[in-house]
Amino acid sequence: MLTFVSIKRFFLIALIVLLVGDWMYNIPTFYYWILIGIFLTLTVLGSFLIQWNFHFKSHNSNPSIVENQIALTFDDGPHPEYTPQVLQLLKQFNAKATFFCIGKHMEGHSGLIKRILTEGHTIGNHTYSHSRVFGFFGAKKVIAELQKTNGIFAKITGKQIQMYRPAFGVTNPNIKKSIKAMGLQSIGWSIRSLDTTPLSDDTILHRTTHKLAKGDILLFHDTSPKTIIVLERLLLILQEKNLQSVTVDQLLNIKAYA
Ligand SMILES: [Zn+2]
Repeated sequence: MLTFVSIKRFFLIALIVLLVGDWMYNIPTFYYWILIGIFLTLTVLGSFLIQWNFHFKSHNSNPSIVENQIALTFDDGPHPEYTPQVLQLLKQFNAKATFFCIGKHMEGHSGLIKRILTEGHTIGNHTYSHSRVFGFFGAKKVIAELQKTNGIFAKITGKQIQMYRPAFGVTNPNIKKSIKAMGLQSIGWSIRSLDTTPLSDDTILHRTTHKLAKGDILLFHDTSPKTIIVLERLLLILQEKNLQSVTVDQLLNIKAYA
């Protein structure tokens, strides 16, 4: 399996081989640059592609599930306007979902947090700030963000969140260290809707349904009117396909809270 540990090992061995070869036959510098280029490309790709499980293992689906179940997940809320609309649709179709909330968006919205839980859905940690440079934060700063969000949630509900959805899907050694220190499980996805991009409703719906199968985890955002439109059509398709949306902890059979 291609992991950060395995490519680091490969890089070191290749470097030693090059140095020995260079000492014996005078190898051109060009070969060192090729090696560094491959290492950096793989590391960048592995840090952005959560399905690679490059730095640590994320739950991206449940391929061994027996029941006709999938998990809808919504990131970046709670949003005072769109989260209630998502909840209304989920209730209408008797579907359950998981909301990976940003800590600073939870502040001042304790009623919405309580409503999400009362209606049978699950909440996960999606950082406090969702900073664009989160991937460059040191472990101390990552832990502070995750603890702050868990603290806000605990104040409202008395529970400690156990599931983390990486912001932007970015993983790295500092995030690995932080989630390990906090005992969090990383939750990825198998289908990314790209509902925050300019793609049309039809394209998003096609992306999310053409290969949809039991065990899939779908990534959406409860932050825009486009998602609401797509969600209503998607819930109808789920009904036709006899697929039930459950919370991600139920789909994976793991604990959502401590
Ligand atoms: Zn996000």
